[in-house]
Amino acid sequence: MAQDTKNFKVSEFACKCGCGTNIIDQRIINMAQKIRDEVGEPVRVNSGCRCAKHNARVGGVKGSFHTKGLAADLSSSVGAAKLFEAVQKLWKDGKLEELKYCIYYAHKNFIHIDCGKERKNVFEVRA
Ligand SMILES: [Zn+2]
Ligand SMILES: [Zn+2]
Repeated sequence: MAQDTKNFKVSEFACKCGCGTNIIDQRIINMAQKIRDEVGEPVRVNSGCRCAKHNARVGGVKGSFHTKGLAADLSSSVGAAKLFEAVQKLWKDGKLEELKYCIYYAHKNFIHIDCGKERKNVFEVRA
């Protein structure tokens, strides 16, 4: 079972459909905390774990890392661009070694982070 951090409760990463699914990986919570510390402002968990049903409903890819507890979507009042910057800085400084993938959804104003599988490009920007 994962542990709360200074600013995040494990429960914030539970499936948003209310089914109770929460298999969030500690690495995701720890990354969220590091990002929060870097921006110095509250960070919201838009989506953490997802059961298969909820994942399908929100248009997640089948077998998404959200369904494995290995991903989270984050937003903040400072804006997702700032979050994306913070993630890139932490990663460059070697402080986010758990990170495998980070997508900045510019239009929807959130970032996706996961510690799923190795990717050629860790960072991606989407409209
Ligand atoms: Zn669910
Ligand atoms: Zn995501």
